[in-house]
Amino acid sequence: MKAVRLFGVNDVRVVDVDRPVPKPGEVLVKVAAAGVCHSDLHLIEHGRRAQKQPFTLGHENAGWVEQLGDGVDGFEIGEPVMVFGPWGCGHCAPCQASFENYCEHQSESPVLGGGLGTDGGMAEYMIVPHPRLLVKLGDLAPGEVAPLSDAALTPYHAIKRSAAKLTPSSFVFVIGIGGLGHMAVQILKKLYAATVIAGDIADDKLDVARHHGADHVVRTDRPDAAEQIRALTGSKKCAVVLDFVGAAPTLALGAATVGLNGDFTVVGLAGGHIDYAAGVVPWGASLCVPYWGSRVELMEVLDMKRKGIIDIDYTTYPLERANDVYQMLREGRINGRAVLVPSH
Ligand code: NAD
Ligand code: ZN
Ligand code: ZN
Repeated sequence: MKAVRLFGVNDVRVVDVDRPVPKPGEVLVKVAAAGVCHSDLHLIEHGRRAQKQPFTLGHENAGWVEQLGDGVDGFEIGEPVMVFGPWGCGHCAPCQASFENYCEHQSESPVLGGGLGTDGGMAEYMIVPHPRLLVKLGDLAPGEVAPLSDAALTPYHAIKRSAAKLTPSSFVFVIGIGGLGHMAVQILKKLYAATVIAGDIADDKLDVARHHGADHVVRTDRPDAAEQIRALTGSKKCAVVLDFVGAAPTLALGAATVGLNGDFTVVGLAGGHIDYAAGVVPWGASLCVPYWGSRVELMEVLDMKRKGIIDIDYTTYPLERANDVYQMLREGRINGRAVLVPSH
């Protein structure tokens, strides 16, 4: 079967590999679609030393159960499923509470999930090591929802942590309206009453934010971006800032725009840094660095999709075009999410 594999820094190839066979306790999933996340670019460009390469990329996966390893039951062959992406030990307290994204053993394992240190879903089939890592899709078509497993789950988890601060009187600033950011705007507008300010360096991304209901948009590369936001919020500034970029300029802008007792939530992994000193962020402010989300939150995300609360803007590409798609993502030429589809 065809698979998109990471061989080393900046070395992604579409190659033929053997179709895997599930061992006892595992499930073989026939992949319908795999979302293309910007985290893959960080991985491709910088690598993670501990990870054994090559492995198949793709950590936003959905498909159909193809084969059950010995001892696995509870699924029909052909049943549509979403792969829950962060794979923990399954036994510690956070894992038992379905927060495998905060598994106590995460730092001991070079494998964070399928596509993140071991074979993921940019292939015709993928192995899921345990049935608990599958969420039943029921009436949802796997080819239409795969990216929700990260591009929606991650902002949903990040936003939910700040729910109490998203009041009708408050402002929330979303930086980076790409795959995650365009979902964040929808979640904020549909579930909360805070005024949403969206920021990006590209006008077409700001159009996407407007389309999804952002109340205000700001070009964050303008030197007066912080003043523009201040003009909207007044002196109370933003109760919540969600940075889906994480580069030095967005971290500085976030610190400048978060209000007293606010949440400065950095999701993006662009490698920026911020020097802490008293006064860099206001009194009472918290810096949060959430990672992905829980399995139960993923079920809530799927219910939001079922109820028409959220939708994902996506464009499909054949698996073979993975390298072109990564290049388009690098150049900011993808709106919403790109999704790779294998030909079966
Ligand atoms: P994306 O490429 O789809 O979107 C990025 C957006 O940011 C684009 O709209 C781009 O125009 C904009 N942007 C780039 N530089 C900017 C700047 N300096 N100021 C303002 N806007 C800027 O990326 P994505 O897939 O949505 O991922 C976003 C980030 O989140 C990535 O760094 C990714 O690695 C990270 N991520 C983190 C988690 C987590 O759990 N913490 C999960 C998934 C993704
Ligand atoms: Zn991701
Ligand atoms: Zn665990």
